[in-house]
Amino acid sequence: MKDARRWLGPALIAATAVGLMLGERQRPLRGAKEPRNSHDIRNFAIAALAGLAVRFVEQAAVAPVAALAARKRWGLLNRLRLPGWARLALGGALMDYTLYLWHILTHKVPALWRFHAVHHADLDLSATTALRFHFGEIVLSVPWRALQVLAIGVAPHELKLWQRATLLSILFHHSNLRLDPRAERALMGLVMTPRLHGIHHSRRPCEMNSNWSSGLTLWDRLHRTLRTDVPQRAITIGIPGQRGDRAPTLGQALAMPFFADASLEQGRHGRPARSGQNR
Ligand SMILES: [Zn+2]
Repeated sequence: MKDARRWLGPALIAATAVGLMLGERQRPLRGAKEPRNSHDIRNFAIAALAGLAVRFVEQAAVAPVAALAARKRWGLLNRLRLPGWARLALGGALMDYTLYLWHILTHKVPALWRFHAVHHADLDLSATTALRFHFGEIVLSVPWRALQVLAIGVAPHELKLWQRATLLSILFHHSNLRLDPRAERALMGLVMTPRLHGIHHSRRPCEMNSNWSSGLTLWDRLHRTLRTDVPQRAITIGIPGQRGDRAPTLGQALAMPFFADASLEQGRHGRPARSGQNR
């Protein structure tokens, strides 16, 4: 029974990824620039290295921090006497909000943008883009993740649950799945969706500087960074300054953070979106 429960989370994530990839073929939201197979294989290769970094650096460092916080009763959640469900809801919301802040930092801090730009340099946004993170970005995020866990006081099992829920959310909103516009509008009230996140992957800085949330759209609403007014056909996916339709190869993508490139620098500039532009 315990074994079955251990596999439930990974099985749900794998089923969601396969379901989204099949759905993208049936109902694509945006036209593809690249042949799908080479695009997906490249993203899976980048993801495999990221997966190793998650397993051997992030989890190895952050899980003991969560265990220590629980043992010493550090962090906000351990100061409050809340029932289990309220701990989970508040902890999940605060982890989501601090991930929103981290995402902004990955765009605004030059050293972080160099790595996060590898994720954005994908010319076709799809469920596999959700896994396309440079392993260096994973390693650089570890101190932030440890701080999140210490300040909020999430327990190891709560951390695992939040990580899985976040992975499901990012698979969904990176996918190239065309949802019924009315259904998607209703979803936007609560969570990040494919159309909204497509705007964040635009090459235009004023569009890229919006829709930062990885989970709840509440944070973008609070900070007036939610943008809903850009139709998908008007979006060119990529990074500011990127020209043409030639996607970086696997080697180029992995080497990207280590070479000076004027186009990478441009990604951090541009006015943030204001929700006054919402419709
Ligand atoms: Zn981003």
